[in-house]
Amino acid sequence: MTKVLAINAGSSSLKFQLLAMPSEEVLTVGLVERIGLTDGVFKIEFKDEEVKKTLDIPNHTKAVELLMDALLENKIVESFDEIAGVGHRVVHGGEKFGSSVVVTPEVLADIEALSDLAPLHNPANMTGIKAFVEKLPNAISVAVFDTAFHQTMPATSYLYPIKHDLYKKHAIRKYGFHGTSHQFVSERAIALLGLPADKTRIITVHIGNGGSLTAVKGGKSIDTSMGFTPLAGIMMGTRSGDVDPAVVPYIMEKEGIDVNQAVDLLNKQSGLVGVSELSSDMRDITSGVEAGNVGAKLAFDLFIKRITDYIGSYLMTLGGADAIVFTAGIGENAGVVRKAILEKLAFLGVEINEEANNTRGQELLVSTADSKIKAFVIPTNEEIMIARDTFSFLTST
Ligand code: AMP
Repeated sequence: MTKVLAINAGSSSLKFQLLAMPSEEVLTVGLVERIGLTDGVFKIEFKDEEVKKTLDIPNHTKAVELLMDALLENKIVESFDEIAGVGHRVVHGGEKFGSSVVVTPEVLADIEALSDLAPLHNPANMTGIKAFVEKLPNAISVAVFDTAFHQTMPATSYLYPIKHDLYKKHAIRKYGFHGTSHQFVSERAIALLGLPADKTRIITVHIGNGGSLTAVKGGKSIDTSMGFTPLAGIMMGTRSGDVDPAVVPYIMEKEGIDVNQAVDLLNKQSGLVGVSELSSDMRDITSGVEAGNVGAKLAFDLFIKRITDYIGSYLMTLGGADAIVFTAGIGENAGVVRKAILEKLAFLGVEINEEANNTRGQELLVSTADSKIKAFVIPTNEEIMIARDTFSFLTST
């Protein structure tokens, strides 16, 4: 049995899972939050136990030490040598990385160079990688990129119709994100459909606090709704999604704010929270709708329309669809959201199975078995994808 860590390091947090491979059994899961603060939080779950501590966690190195010590103390591993690989989520792989790679000094330099495109994420991901390399020098490190799955998009999907020089000089194009999740759920949907993989046409709907849709043809991403940054596409918890770019200078002038504040407004004060003036959380929006809150209803309806507009577009891109897959916090849990989306597709022969759709958080067919386009809920699992990719390098070397 090989043990592999799947790591998602943010600027002040570090989420981890230790998996036994190839069985994919989760041995332990946890997170470190508020890194950099004196009241940092460390949480770890294993078997039926949970340990939670609040303590000074000045940096990622300390976070990794806490995790490693907890693995030994709680006998989750007997020695660090049991951990053969560490897979890291890295947000931006640019045009350089179309698949996961073993981290070398050259790869680290490339990830660093891509920080321009993801200034909040890539440096944090690198800090995580370096902290583990220090603590586990014998384990391989693998970088798994959020953008990689979308590198199969054709130029007609990834290019913006702007001056081509801007693409050539500055790599301004659509990259897309949530790739690991779109890949995981589309692979699973292909297995569930039982059709020849290369013939499948799937629309994956990843809707959580952030959200994106992907058109997956023959297992490959051919278009996705997020763009140069994760601000584009559908409406999200706090992000606007697509707006006319000319709105930005106009907001700046009218509100007397600078460009960073204007972009911040679109990133943090828009979407569900901006429109509803109530909350960014879909649970509050749906209970607001039930209570007759006008803002919540407007936000809900706009949220649905932005998604169905993309579904319509991807039906064209794919030439139809075999399945629509819902995943992430809202997609997995909010039956009312799935119902509102699927009802709009009734004219295409989509038939919802109301009883199945009222179930939460498990893999399920939520359309009828003979619906023209099948609708599935498939809980996403980015950690398993990270562990699989990491394990694949261990077995191939
Ligand atoms: P994620 O970013 O994937 O963790 O998703 C987080 C979002 O999922 C939250 O902000 C909620 O809006 C949504 N969510 C989670 N549980 C439910 C639920 N039972 N009903 C509606 N929305 C939910």
